[in-house]
Amino acid sequence: MKDCLFCRIARGEIPCDKVFENECLLAFRDISPQADKHVLIIPKHHMASLNDLSEAPDALLAGLLRAAQAVARAEGIQDSGYRLVSNCGPDARQSVSHLHFHVLGGRQLSERMV
Ligand code: AMP
Repeated sequence: MKDCLFCRIARGEIPCDKVFENECLLAFRDISPQADKHVLIIPKHHMASLNDLSEAPDALLAGLLRAAQAVARAEGIQDSGYRLVSNCGPDARQSVSHLHFHVLGGRQLSERMV
């Protein structure tokens, strides 16, 4: 997608603070962190949200979850704990229409999910 923000980051057209990358995925620090550790994980191939997962290969889905765990380990929050979030659609306040997972940790997070 030509003008999608996260596609542009994945193509290297917009800089990011990269944490991890492989052929299919990119992980980078959120520009407006909501916790001491806040990393976004995106598939490089455009898909708008969790609603598009039926089109995605199983290997990509597994890769996204494994990348979240690898990021948590690399960020030193594997044992202290972390939260994995993907906002989908307007009620969830998804602000970038390119599937992404937030990895949040490094402090005690709110007890409430909503
Ligand atoms: P969401 O609201 O779940 O769609 O999350 C989108 C996230 O992208 C927000 O937490 C933003 O702070 C983050 N974000 C927006 N632009 C950038 C950027 N250029 N680099 C890194 N993170 C970004």
